Amino acid sequence: MVADKQADSQDSNDVLVSTQEVIQTALNKLGYPEEAYELMKEPVRMMIVRIPVRMDDGKIKIFTGYRAQHNDAVGPTKGGVRFHPNVTENEVRALSIWMSLKAGIVDLPYGGGKGGIICDPRKMSFRELEALSRGYVRAISQIVGPTKDIPAPDVFTNSQIMAWMMDEYSRIDEFNNPGFITGKPIVLGGSHGRESATAKGVTICIEEACKKRGIDIKGARVIVQGFGNAGSFLAKFMYDMGAKVIAISDAEGALHDPDGLDIDYLLDRRDSFGTVTNLFEETISNQDMLELETDILVPAAIENQITKDNAHNIKASIVVEAANGPTTLEATKILTERDILIVPDVLASSGGVTVSYFEWVQNNQGYYWKEEEVQEKLREVLVKAFNNVYTTSQNRQVDMRLAAYMVGVRKMTEAARFRGWI
Ligand code: NAD
Repeated sequence: MVADKQADSQDSNDVLVSTQEVIQTALNKLGYPEEAYELMKEPVRMMIVRIPVRMDDGKIKIFTGYRAQHNDAVGPTKGGVRFHPNVTENEVRALSIWMSLKAGIVDLPYGGGKGGIICDPRKMSFRELEALSRGYVRAISQIVGPTKDIPAPDVFTNSQIMAWMMDEYSRIDEFNNPGFITGKPIVLGGSHGRESATAKGVTICIEEACKKRGIDIKGARVIVQGFGNAGSFLAKFMYDMGAKVIAISDAEGALHDPDGLDIDYLLDRRDSFGTVTNLFEETISNQDMLELETDILVPAAIENQITKDNAHNIKASIVVEAANGPTTLEATKILTERDILIVPDVLASSGGVTVSYFEWVQNNQGYYWKEEEVQEKLREVLVKAFNNVYTTSQNRQVDMRLAAYMVGVRKMTEAARFRGWI
């Protein structure tokens, strides 16, 4: 257990350090002075809270929570709240920086934020989860709000948790305040298209990447690692567009059929944790799956899947990162040298925050859009973002990850300069 904790803390530290490394290179390439990096390398605000919750056995348990606000030069900060036993302070810091980059890439009027609570929601009752969610909002209420910092769902949090949090904030504020949080149920001001927004955004990036590489999606071979929220929606979208999804995987293993898998059947059989491969006898390992012949490879599970050890064996023409951090910096270099087109996480998975922004706009207006309107606007935003990053990569002769970071940091650095901060 202690060893596990050390490993987690090491991982989250690595994520923070590698994020800072690329930010520094991006700012240097853009010609900004050192103080720009000094401002961007850490959140401007980090709150640590202790939340007492009366558990079902009558005892009080104290939980630790965090809220990081990376940079609010452009506008309020925005980002999810994660409930997970492995949440660390450094992970929350790094994820808040990523949210700033995403907001910059898709050109939203936000900076990045992120929150987390160290807990295991799988072992908590509904009542305990509600008390924890409300306690977190009370603890951070002074620094959040619809014009300060807008939370959203993340790992192991969902629309019910957003609803409790919105209700608690509205009670504190003494008026109904749906714009405080996004990812709410539709009846409380949630947006159509929010649930599948990340996968939709990944799909749009795949379409754009395929155009650049002259690949027809109809009949193209696709591999999707991870069959959870992001991976399963994505596999379905690809399948419906006529692609051949030749392999999918989950934490237990991978399924492979060179003629294409029946995604509708697999969706029907998967459990709520995104597991389906345990129902089959003939499986292959996740690592073997990543190295199969394919046109498109989508890591949509966990971090550090493509490393210097397997990057030379990846056979895809395009790698689209639906997951956060699936490719290390060394592997990015190897794939780019091998002329594999990488669509980095901060671009590929920005569909979620984009539709969250649409939800906030609808809440502020009190006027709600149809699903088609949401989809049309999402497409417009992501096509523009993809092409902006791609053109930057071509013009500046840098890899797609560095190009995305350059696009992502630019707006907030300019905003900080106009405000006289640097
Ligand atoms: P999820 O928990 O719904 O699903 C995760 C999937 O990955 C499951 O199928 C699980 O079995 C599988 N998995 C877990 N460990 C694995 C392993 N070692 N090898 C292979 N598969 C494994 O999660 P999600 O919401 O789909 O998120 C997946 C990734 O996408 C994460 O990196 C997340 O940060 C990123 N992401 C998700 C969203 C979103 O809106 N869901 C938005 C942005 C980024």
